Amino acid sequence: MIAACLALVAAGCVTPGRNAFRGLPDRHEFRDEGLTIHSDMKLPSSDPLIADLYRVRDQITEVLDLPNANRSVSVYLFRDQERYATYMQTAHPELPNRRAFFIGSTTELAVYAFQGDRVGEDLRHEYTHGLLHATLRTVPLWLDEGLAEYFEVGGTQPGALNRDHAHRLATALENGWRPDLQRLEQLDDIAQMRRVDYQESWAWVHFLLHEAPGGRALLVDYLKELQTTTVAPSLAERIRREIPSAEMRLMSYIATFATSSVGRSVL
Ligand SMILES: [Zn+2]
Repeated sequence: MIAACLALVAAGCVTPGRNAFRGLPDRHEFRDEGLTIHSDMKLPSSDPLIADLYRVRDQITEVLDLPNANRSVSVYLFRDQERYATYMQTAHPELPNRRAFFIGSTTELAVYAFQGDRVGEDLRHEYTHGLLHATLRTVPLWLDEGLAEYFEVGGTQPGALNRDHAHRLATALENGWRPDLQRLEQLDDIAQMRRVDYQESWAWVHFLLHEAPGGRALLVDYLKELQTTTVAPSLAERIRREIPSAEMRLMSYIATFATSSVGRSVL
């Protein structure tokens, strides 16, 4: 799925109305270390959505070798789409109509989503953004999205294929599309990101973590650097240096997706 995510530097970007329908969810609160969930509906601590967020946090920490987050993430979970849409249109009229959002500012790392058929996937995706922004001083847009698409798939083991992305990319490849990480690195506005860009970002992350020799170490080292710098260096240059013919190898990897039955469908 493609959800939108914004990293706003300016404080005060959230200007919620506070009446019962238009305001943020505040009837119930679940609070644990590094995570607060404000919801219209009560969530018991045993709720599968909460267990899912813990699992995503553990997987991100382990796979990416990230330290514990030094900022907390707030999740605002609306009871339904209408409540969510009304709030978002009131508080953030400039934003497009999307199913979920992550908005990071200097004052809050906030996830907005609603209870619906795809709430698990939406929360995994947006919470991944939250955790990355809670840990890193900067993260390139393409990598932010690629990692969110990677961890949104869920499951007890990270890395299941997002079959929708996999099959669409395999088809695009047959029709002449080619990966271009340098081009992806130039994108710095969510509005520039097309569906295929999310798919390519996901594919580079999957390739680095599961296919390219030394790919995970390369990515982990890069993320360590992003913990201390505010200007992200080019990962494409490092990949070109350390993984010969990376784009050809990525294409071969994507071509195998056409016949793969691993993973699950995300439509
Ligand atoms: Zn996203």
